[in-house]
Amino acid sequence: MCGEETALLNSIEGKRGEVRTRPPYPAQQGLFNRPTVVNNVETLACVPWVVEHGGDAFAKLGDRRRATAASWYARQCLQPAGPYEVECGTPLSKVIDELGQGFKKKVKKAPHIGGPLGGIVPMDAINALSIDFESFQKEGFLLGHASVLSIPEDFPMVEYLEHLFQFTAVESCGKCFPCRIGSKRGEELLNAARTKDQKIDRVLFNDLVETMEIGSLCALGGGLPLGVKNALQYFRNELDAYFIEQ
Ligand code: SF4
Repeated sequence: MCGEETALLNSIEGKRGEVRTRPPYPAQQGLFNRPTVVNNVETLACVPWVVEHGGDAFAKLGDRRRATAASWYARQCLQPAGPYEVECGTPLSKVIDELGQGFKKKVKKAPHIGGPLGGIVPMDAINALSIDFESFQKEGFLLGHASVLSIPEDFPMVEYLEHLFQFTAVESCGKCFPCRIGSKRGEELLNAARTKDQKIDRVLFNDLVETMEIGSLCALGGGLPLGVKNALQYFRNELDAYFIEQ
């Protein structure tokens, strides 16, 4: 949970790793109330290249806000597991098929891109995507930190969604109730549907997902709904059996 920058700052200060309410943002009032810039490893990994080639050359690479993107691939997903570093704008299919030599057999159900809070992409949408934020956003997905794993063909989507809610429940810092309670209720609903054939009220489930999306304080609770909504849209044939329309 301390991957969230304000929870990280709290943790460094010896406090519980809970997300802080913003504003003030860390750049205004961060570690020990001092202005603080928090960079992730991906950003820092660009520094040697910038030092060697200069800022102007860096800005000319792909997207100006994020000139390079590193894609990490879950082991066993592509033929050689990553990481790969490519310029923004590189077609996703090129990364998967040329650098990764394609998905391994039996894991071609759907790539989940951008981490557990990223989007679940149907295979036939891959060709419309390139490694940049805009292309993913336009198609209703999320590049996130650009990791890719692929869901095995024989893995039920309902169980995968249950796993995502469970992940969020375990990682939740507990500060806001949409994430703290919503993730647990979602996990319970999906588990009961999967193991006890208890149908899920679709309106109730959609309410839960929407409450998490708009009411969560940070990207953990607020990010989970995207992949869930992708799955409900693109894997309707498989998931409809677990829901009832009231
Ligand atoms: S969304 Fe989850 S992790 Fe983020 S502040 Fe709320 S409870 Fe904490």
